[in-house]
Amino acid sequence: MITINNYVRAESLEQAYDLNQKKSNRVLGGMMWMRLGKGRVHTAIDLSGLGLDTIEENEEEFKIGCMCTLRSLELHEGLNTYFQDALKESVHHIVGVQFRNGATVGGSVFGRFGFSDVLTVLLSLNSYVELYKGGIVPLHEFVHMERDNDLLVRVIVKKDNRQVRYLTERATATDFPVIACAVSRVENEWKVSVGARPMKAMLVTEKAELTCAEDAEAFAKRVADAFTYGTNMRGSKEYRKHLAEILIRRAVKSLMEEC
Ligand SMILES: Cc1cc2nc3c(=O)[nH]c(=O)nc-3n(C[C@H](O)[C@H](O)[C@H](O)COP(=O)(O)OP(=O)(O)OC[C@H]3O[C@@H](n4cnc5c(N)ncnc54)[C@H](O)[C@@H]3O)c2cc1C
Repeated sequence: MITINNYVRAESLEQAYDLNQKKSNRVLGGMMWMRLGKGRVHTAIDLSGLGLDTIEENEEEFKIGCMCTLRSLELHEGLNTYFQDALKESVHHIVGVQFRNGATVGGSVFGRFGFSDVLTVLLSLNSYVELYKGGIVPLHEFVHMERDNDLLVRVIVKKDNRQVRYLTERATATDFPVIACAVSRVENEWKVSVGARPMKAMLVTEKAELTCAEDAEAFAKRVADAFTYGTNMRGSKEYRKHLAEILIRRAVKSLMEEC
């Protein structure tokens, strides 16, 4: 259980950032993960009054506010039409609708969880995070940055005509994934993101001209070999690697059929 001494509904990002510099204070997302932890929070900083719960779309990009819920990703017509339902597919196994109405994109991405579907799918897209002090950083760099006291304000996803597929293997429908895999392509540039290894998602980018089933199989094997895997109660590292290769292959073949 966590105990919160004070609560502040921030009136500006500057105020939230200042408060967040104190180690014992914490920013709140949807609190779905945080509430399972232990400890005492001096001041909980709520960003819900700052208008950051919208998904904006223009010609070039989608801007997803940190307080958007996973449910809003799942239901957003523009995002899901543009990315062929990949975002919907990445979140719809997460617990249940009520849960997804609470958990936020900011908490999911800032947390950089080793099991994260959200991080896995976003990494396979041309995505950036907008940090209050740190500015705009490519998501694949943010994943490796040390956790600090900055605020994640938005996630930005570029419209670059990417085709994408998202696949996971789960022991039961709403459990954490045993492995998560997102593959995207623009012409012959491929991005493959594998998460729940059970480490946080990582990205491999390759230029490859894939024209037949044998090419797809060789590509999937080569890329699956490039990731490291671990063992936990959900599966061994050997099993995860085996699954990753299969899911990458299926996604690649499906994307090849698209062209
Ligand atoms: C039972 C359970 C099952 C789950 N299953 C899955 C699953 O299968 N797949 C999956 O991908 N995810 C899963 N999740 C994770 C979930 O989807 C969310 O990612 C998680 O709850 C964090 O989102 P939140 O809004 O609750 O963040 P919080 O719990 O509120 O915050 C998480 C962390 O991020 C920080 N934070 C939040 N917002 C910001 C911000 N804007 N800027 C800076 N720091 C911030 C907080 O201070 C905290 O440290 C599961 C979670 C639970 C509890």
